[in-house]
Amino acid sequence: MSERMHALVTGGSRGIGLAIIKALLADGYEVWYLSRSRGEGADTQDLHHIVCDMADRSSVEAALEQVIAEAKTVDVLVNNAGITRDGLIMRMKDDAWDDVLAVNLTSVFLTCRRLSRLMAGSRKGSIINISSVVGLMGNGGQTNYAASKAGIIGFSKSLARELASRSVRVNVVAPGFIDTSMTEVLSDALKEQLAKQIPLGRIGDADEVAQAVAFLASEKASYITGQVLAVDGGMAM
Ligand code: NDP
Repeated sequence: MSERMHALVTGGSRGIGLAIIKALLADGYEVWYLSRSRGEGADTQDLHHIVCDMADRSSVEAALEQVIAEAKTVDVLVNNAGITRDGLIMRMKDDAWDDVLAVNLTSVFLTCRRLSRLMAGSRKGSIINISSVVGLMGNGGQTNYAASKAGIIGFSKSLARELASRSVRVNVVAPGFIDTSMTEVLSDALKEQLAKQIPLGRIGDADEVAQAVAFLASEKASYITGQVLAVDGGMAM
C-alpha cells in the first residue's frame, strides 16, 4: 500500500489558500495549514489547523516543528500566506514595508529552510510558492508587495537549483486578479477597469489558481522545476 501524502499550506483560512486545501484534499492528501484564524470551509479529519502568525519568526518555527512532529514527512509545501499594505513610496511607513516583507517573503524563507532539509532527506517533494502578476509587471502603489512577490521568484529559482539533485521541485504560481477578500475591497469601477486589462476579460476564481497548484504538486509535473506559472487570464504574457 502506498503511503499517505502530506501537504502543508500557509494562510489557508480563506481565499486562494482555502481553495488550494480543498484541491489537495480532493487529491487524497492529508493537509496541515498555518494561519491566525481557523477557516470554516473545509471540515474534515484529514485537515489540521495550527495557529500561526507568519510575520512572527518564533511562531513560524514552532508551528513547523509541530507539523513535523505530527506529519513526520511533508511531501508538498505551498507558501500562500500574503498581505497587502498599499501606498505610494513617498508616504510609505516603515511598518508597511516590514510587515509585507515579513509575511510574504521572510516566511517563505523560514518554511523552505526547515522543510527543504526534510524533503532533501527523503529525496522527494514539491514546493509551490504563490507570487503575483505584480511581481512580474510591477504596480504603482505596491512597491512593497511587488518587491516581496518578485523576491519569491528569484528565491524559488535559486532553491530549485539547490534542491534539484535531491529530486525536490520548486515552482511558482503567479495569480492575476482573483476574486477573494484581498480584492473585494476594491471599488466596482476599479474592478471593471482591471477586468478590461485581462485578455480573457474576467476576474479569476480561487479554484482556477488551486488547480494549477495541485498540478504542480502532483507527479503529473514530475519534470517541471524552477518555473513561474501565471494564472492570470493572460495579463502578464
Ligand atoms: P486573502 O486575504 O483572502 O487570504 C490571505 C490568507 O493569508 C488568509 O488565509 C490569512 O489567514 C493568511 N495570512 C495573512 N496574514 C497572515 C499572517 N500574518 N499569518 C498567517 N497567515 C496570514 O488573500 P488571497 O487568498 O487573495 O491571497 C492568497 C495569496 O495569493 C497571497 O499570497 C496573495 O498575495 C496572492 N495573490 C492574490 C491575488 C488576488 O487577486 N487575490 C493575486 C495575486 C496573488 P489569517 O488572516 O487567518 O491569518
